[in-house]
Amino acid sequence: GRHDVRRREALVWEMPQTGSMRVPAMLFGTEAALAAMEDGVFAQLRNVASLPGIAGQALAMPDAHTGYGFPIGCVAAFDARAGGVVSAGGVGFDIGCGVRTLVSDLDREDVEPVRESLADRLYDAVPAGLGAGGRLRLSDRDMDRMLAGGAAWAVREGFGQTGDLPRCEEGGTMPGADPAGVSAKARERQRDELGTLGSGNHYLEVQHVEKIFDSRTASAYGLRPGQVVVSIHCGSRGLGHQVATEHMAAMLAAAPGHGLTVADPELAFAPIESPAGVRYLGAMRAAINCALAGRQIITHLVREVFAALFPGCRLALLYDVSHNTCKVERHAVGKSVKTLHVHRKGATRALGPGHPDLPETFREVGQPVIVGGSMGTSSYVLSGTEASEALSFASACHGAGRAMSRKQAAKRFSAKGVVAALAGQGITIRTHTLRGVAEEAPGAYKDIEEVAQTTHALGLAAKTARLRPLACIKG
Ligand code: 5GP
Ligand code: MN
Ligand code: MN
Repeated sequence: GRHDVRRREALVWEMPQTGSMRVPAMLFGTEAALAAMEDGVFAQLRNVASLPGIAGQALAMPDAHTGYGFPIGCVAAFDARAGGVVSAGGVGFDIGCGVRTLVSDLDREDVEPVRESLADRLYDAVPAGLGAGGRLRLSDRDMDRMLAGGAAWAVREGFGQTGDLPRCEEGGTMPGADPAGVSAKARERQRDELGTLGSGNHYLEVQHVEKIFDSRTASAYGLRPGQVVVSIHCGSRGLGHQVATEHMAAMLAAAPGHGLTVADPELAFAPIESPAGVRYLGAMRAAINCALAGRQIITHLVREVFAALFPGCRLALLYDVSHNTCKVERHAVGKSVKTLHVHRKGATRALGPGHPDLPETFREVGQPVIVGGSMGTSSYVLSGTEASEALSFASACHGAGRAMSRKQAAKRFSAKGVVAALAGQGITIRTHTLRGVAEEAPGAYKDIEEVAQTTHALGLAAKTARLRPLACIKG
């Protein structure tokens, strides 16, 4: 329960360290947002705060909702030297899921007259939907290269431009991947899924910049009012799901050997330096590379569609962020700086100005933080701040976050009604499943304006630009 949650500041709430908790837990939001948050978030956060070697505090971002083991919208960092653990449930099933945004030199007025045919062409060009097959079939050797190389591999194969790579976290290649740790079954699931969007919550959206909040940052990002941008949200598809499934089981099986008891089997975890932990991290990094390669290939397909309709147009990558990850980073905890395994599950890394891991172009303004809203509302580009280092291990929200389950949404909303209502607002939807549209109806999500405002007011990340959808291809 939530009974012992205390208000610390206007938008900051604390669950003090009690019972099995090793650190306190922290949540962010207005009083109304906290009241609306599911009980499960509090219970899951308490479990996360009870894990061995957790540093600082367990955190729930303003878009948090109940997940598998860890909440979605959770940030938790672990210190290997203090017995810290890695948790497959703390990364999630869709390993490496993330969003990238491409900025064009087109204006909304250029796209409006061809909005419907643009949507048709994107729908045809980018395979989507559960189990949809892609155009590529990889040999075992190419699969290994893809799993080791990520977006850099995809660019080498002709999907994209070398200029794309500095615009990805880790330069487009997650280091430390162990392709050998990805099972035959995981590879089989991926074999013809590369460059496919996936289902449901994943999307390919043509958007326009509706408002700029900070012109200095926006100009460093190449964003201006009225501009057309494209956002791609997808992850590691069946491969990542299989890696997560297998390693959760392996972590559970190994737990008694480490003298660990697992309160909730969904919370499968293993000491960072144990064989189960090391194997998971290697396979997880390979799955992150799979997601990076996938978004890179889709970028190429999107560019082909735009080039056919708008010859010579520019679609440059703003940034690619992964929001289901565990990364090794240095952070201040109390008075010392520690090397930590930072889990971000449904949360975005948000490095502030001056961080050495940022490309030169963003060094002075901070990392672009790409936040989805829904197919009928705003989405946001935020920027990393200095304040987030002390608040959240340099992390921010990843979306609006679900306000209800898929099942509840499917009951509540009529897919045809949603598509018609959005058409009335000038938003074209193309989808592979009508049920998916009901599950992903804008009303199934929290209020993105409030989530963005909370994030901005706290300094987790700062508002830079608000985007509105023109056309959305749903998986
Ligand atoms: P997740 O990674 O948790 O599945 O989704 C991330 C976020 O994307 C959700 O919290 C939601 O706010 C946002 N989202 C879901 N569907 C859409 C969509 O069709 N368009 C946009 N712009 N955002 C979406
Ligand atoms: Mn995903
Ligand atoms: Mn996602």
